[in-house]
Amino acid sequence: MSSTTLTPIKETEGLTLKKWFLNIYRAVTSVSKGMMITMKYAYGVKPVTIEYPEVREVLPENSRSRLYNDAENCISCYQCAVACPVDCIYITATKRDKDADKIKTSNGTAIRLDLVQYTIDTALCCYCGLCTTVCPTECLTHTTDYEFSQYTLDSMKYDYLAPDIRSWRDRIVK
Ligand code: SF4
Ligand code: SF4
Repeated sequence: MSSTTLTPIKETEGLTLKKWFLNIYRAVTSVSKGMMITMKYAYGVKPVTIEYPEVREVLPENSRSRLYNDAENCISCYQCAVACPVDCIYITATKRDKDADKIKTSNGTAIRLDLVQYTIDTALCCYCGLCTTVCPTECLTHTTDYEFSQYTLDSMKYDYLAPDIRSWRDRIVK
């Protein structure tokens, strides 16, 4: 914004009619400039805030927010846990019974282990995305869900084998 340097009127100088009108001119132009800036921001500039929670931002599809493991396609390979720089992925798996039905992931990878625990402590997660990058079946993905604050740190541990986890994911990922 350009600014005009005005010569200050010394108080010791007598007030002439010309100076009196000059003072009025300066006051009016100064207030007008200020009001123009105010009006510009009040009506002319797109708001930078939203009325959350009535209005919600939709994050870009490639956002790295809360993680989701589509456990049916997880082969318990531990690669995500090994890649995680903060060790916040907890996996427990047992060997499948040799007489059990042969099962595969949706991309045709044989599932040789039974996943019995898959938990991510999102309070520790730094959302670096390394775990999703190494996942061979691409069952581990970031969602665009950013509303998962909790009152206790313990509640930030998400069990991806919990019965309601799929319905949460379907609600978030359209
Ligand atoms: S996003 Fe990074 S910190 Fe979070 S679970 Fe994956 S690897 Fe670990
Ligand atoms: S990398 Fe993927 S397939 Fe392997 S344990 Fe992690 S989520 Fe499961």
